[in-house]
Amino acid sequence: MELTSQMIKKKAKDLGIDVIGIGSIDRYVNAPVLMNPKTYFPEAKSVIVIGMRIPRGSYRGIEEGTHWHNYTFYSYNRLNSFFRPRLTYELACYIEDYGWEAVPHYPAVPERAAAQRPVAEGTVPHDVVFSIRLMGVGAGAGEMGHSKVFLTKEFGPRIRLGCILTDAELDPDPIIEPGTICNKCGRCVRDCPGNAIPPVKDEDKKLTVEIGGKKISWGDVHMGRCTLTHHGLNNTVSPFLKKDFPNLEFDAASSDTTEEEAYRLTYPLALGTWSNCHYEENSGSIIKYYKYILSHCGYFAVCGAKGCIRACMDSLEKSKRIENTFKHPFYHKKGWNLTVERVGDKKGVINPFREEGLDKLYPSIREGEQEKSKFK
Ligand code: SF4
Ligand code: SF4
Repeated sequence: MELTSQMIKKKAKDLGIDVIGIGSIDRYVNAPVLMNPKTYFPEAKSVIVIGMRIPRGSYRGIEEGTHWHNYTFYSYNRLNSFFRPRLTYELACYIEDYGWEAVPHYPAVPERAAAQRPVAEGTVPHDVVFSIRLMGVGAGAGEMGHSKVFLTKEFGPRIRLGCILTDAELDPDPIIEPGTICNKCGRCVRDCPGNAIPPVKDEDKKLTVEIGGKKISWGDVHMGRCTLTHHGLNNTVSPFLKKDFPNLEFDAASSDTTEEEAYRLTYPLALGTWSNCHYEENSGSIIKYYKYILSHCGYFAVCGAKGCIRACMDSLEKSKRIENTFKHPFYHKKGWNLTVERVGDKKGVINPFREEGLDKLYPSIREGEQEKSKFK
């Protein structure tokens, strides 16, 4: 049975997919083995990349500084792990109804995978994951922004991507000319609270690959700083950290922490419990909100993409470089920002066990305890 690009695009639209692009497999010929779609489907002839939008309103609570759940739930975890994969799955089944094999791509990133050693030397590891954004570039679905965030003509950076590899030979879309959407305005650089996105003019911090004969470049984002900020260890954007660690004057924006180190710090902190935390709210969490949202959603996005999505989208809306625009501008007032520095005197509980237990029961024990103690 004949299956065409037009048929797949119509089905995608009917399913509720917002963006779709189709690329021919030869465009990815230069991709390294660990990031090459042919590594896990050697017979693939076409790469289909689909996108579903992030609702602009899901950033509103973070922008107000009052509500973080919506973004993590709707626009990160559920969009990446449920809403969009469900449509990826349905589109893959549609393709297979026509007798062509369709490989729906698992929503993972190459940075977290392919870290395992192969079973035997000279073979490929068993957890290869390609870069979905580079697949999207080759499929003509959008382009790489300077921020490393994928930008589409319809929604700019407000998009989450999925991918299907198929052995059906389909008419490809043209690759979008680099610079069509990202005009190197630098808003993402200026508004990134993690100081993670390099200046647009810094040629030393530029990464370039070749896809389908076109040079594709973006800024070499400092992933350690971004991960610290995105996952709640930057107190300029996390009221949760600021509240529970009022004396922590750690400056994520000038840290040279690596991405792996940042993950090893942020996730255990978010999931961790500490016996002395029981005194306050009986949850035992080190940072109550992080534990709650991570346990509920399987994710926690604290920065809210302040520079790489929110500021970028505002810039693209204002310069009319994207189609999905709104009756009112995104920013209504000056944004908020917390400080790295401790404000005022040392705050918080030094040792809740002592303050709530020992010091209450034996009020004299802390003040000058060494002098007064008869046990010294
Ligand atoms: S804000 Fe967006 S359009 Fe401007 S340089 Fe950054 S990625 Fe490009
Ligand atoms: S998620 Fe936050 S810290 Fe990371 S690049 Fe985007 S704006 Fe910067």
